[in-house]
Amino acid sequence: MSDLYHTLANSPFSGKLFSMLGLPQPVNLERWKADSQSFIEGDVLVGCAPNSLFLDAVAQQFVGSDATVNFAIEAGNRDFMVSAFEAAGVSAVASNVTESKKYKGLVFDASGIQTSDELIELHRFFHPVIRKMKTSGRIVVIGLTPELCESSKQHTAMRALEGFVRSMGKEVKKGVAVQLVYASSTAAASSLAGPIRFFLSPKAAYVSAQVIRVGEADAVGSDFDWNQPLAGKTALVTGAARGIGKSIAETLSRDGAKVIVLDIPQVEIELEQTAASVSGTAFVGDVTAADTPQRLVELFKGEFSGVDIVVHNAGVTRDKTLGGMPSKLWNMVIDINLSSEERINDALLEAGVINQGGRIIGVSSMAGIAGNFGQTNYACSKAGVVGMVNSLAQPLKEKGITINAVAPGFIETQMTAAIPVTIREVGRRLNSMSQGGKPVDVAEGIAFFASPAASGVTGNTMRVCGQSLLGA
Ligand code: NAD
Repeated sequence: MSDLYHTLANSPFSGKLFSMLGLPQPVNLERWKADSQSFIEGDVLVGCAPNSLFLDAVAQQFVGSDATVNFAIEAGNRDFMVSAFEAAGVSAVASNVTESKKYKGLVFDASGIQTSDELIELHRFFHPVIRKMKTSGRIVVIGLTPELCESSKQHTAMRALEGFVRSMGKEVKKGVAVQLVYASSTAAASSLAGPIRFFLSPKAAYVSAQVIRVGEADAVGSDFDWNQPLAGKTALVTGAARGIGKSIAETLSRDGAKVIVLDIPQVEIELEQTAASVSGTAFVGDVTAADTPQRLVELFKGEFSGVDIVVHNAGVTRDKTLGGMPSKLWNMVIDINLSSEERINDALLEAGVINQGGRIIGVSSMAGIAGNFGQTNYACSKAGVVGMVNSLAQPLKEKGITINAVAPGFIETQMTAAIPVTIREVGRRLNSMSQGGKPVDVAEGIAFFASPAASGVTGNTMRVCGQSLLGA
C-alpha cells in the first residue's frame, strides 16, 4: 500500500515544508540489489578500544570488498590497528576525522573496555564522526557478552553498550542503522563474519538498535559464495502464498535454496504462483491439521534428502479485547501462530529429517514484545515464539541446529493495510526510520539466520521494526 506521507516528504516542495515544520522525514531506504557484489561500498571507519579482541576478525571481512577502510589518524592505538589491517591484507587509509569526509559505515570494537570510565572510548571514536554519516549508513559496535565477562566491572561496562547503541539509533537520521554484536572472548572471525556483513549491508535496511549474541561458529571456508549462501539447501516456508512469506521464499531462493512453500487450500492458486516464481514446490496444507507434521516428515524423507531451513511464517490476527473475545478466536490464533509450530518442530526433529547444520526460524512480532490493545491472543502467541526460541536453543545446539526468530514491526502487507488509517499512520511513523518496512526486510533477516555464516547465532529474536518506539 502506498505511503502518501513518505512520497510528500521526498518531493522537492513539500519536503522543504516538512523540514521547516520539524516533521519526520523518512528517506528512501537503500536495499540490496540483484547486481550488488560487495556487502558495503564507500568509506568505512574502523576503530577499537585499547586491547580489544576482534579487530583482526573485523579487518578480514573487508578483504576483496568495495569498501575503503579508514582509521582515525588521531587514534591512540594506531600501530595496533595498522598491524591488524596488514595481517588481514587490507590497505587501510589514515583519515583525519575532523575533515569533511562522509562515512557509509562505522565499526567499533569495544571489547577492550574493562570499566565504566573506559566507556569514554565510545565518545572518542563516535563523537567526531556521528554527524558525518551518509544516507542508509551502517554502524556496528562489538562487545563481549556481558554474562561471560570475568569481572563485574567489565560486565557492567559491556551491558552499558546497549543503552549507547539504542540511543545512537534514535539520534542518527537518514535511514542510518545501528547494531550491537556481543561475542565471547574466544570468538573467531567465523563467529563474527555473518553478523558483521549482514549489519553493514543494505539487507539490514529496516533493522536498527538490535543486539545479537554470537557464540562459537563453524568457519564457512574460503570458497563460500556470499551471494549464494544457501546453495544446495532445502527450505520450508509456511504461509508463503502472499505477503511476508512470499518474500521469504523469493529471498531464500535468490540466495540459492530449493524452496517448498506451504499454505492453505483456499489460496492454492496464489501458492502455485509463488512456487512457480521461485522454481519451488507447493505444499497445500493447513499448519494446524493433525496430519500436516507427518506429511512434512514423509515429504522430507522421500522427495528431498531432509530439510535444512524451516521458517514458521504462517500467522493470523483475530483482534478483540479480552472481554469480548470468544474462546474460538483465542484457540485459533494460539494454534496457528504457536502450537502448530511446536508440533511441526517435534515431528521433524523426532524423525531426524532436519539436517545437520539445520535452521529453525520463527516469526514473532512487536506485539509479542510490547503487547497491543485488542491482541491478547496474538501477542500471547508471538511472545510464545520468543519462548520457543529461548527454550530450544541449547538442546538444539547439541544437534548442530540453530533456532532464532525475527519480530517484525510495522510491515506494509495486506495484514497492515486492513488497519484503520489513523492507527496505520502512527504505526508507520513511530520508529527511527519514520516509515513502515517491506516484506523483503523481514525476509533478509530470515536469510541471515538461515545462512551457514550464522552458525554461531542461536537463541536470538531480532526485531525488524526500524527501531519502533513500542517495546523499545
Ligand atoms: P498475511 O496475512 O499476508 O499472510 C499470512 C499467510 O499465512 C497467508 O498466506 C495465509 O493464507 C497463511 N496462513 C494462515 N493460516 C494458515 C494456516 N493455518 N496454515 C497455513 N498457512 C496459513 O500476513 P503477513 O503480514 O505476510 O504476515 C506473515 C507473518 O508475519 C505472520 O506470522 C504475522 O503474524 C507476522 N507479522 C506481520 C507483521 C506485519 O506488519 N505485516 C508484523 C508482525 C508480524
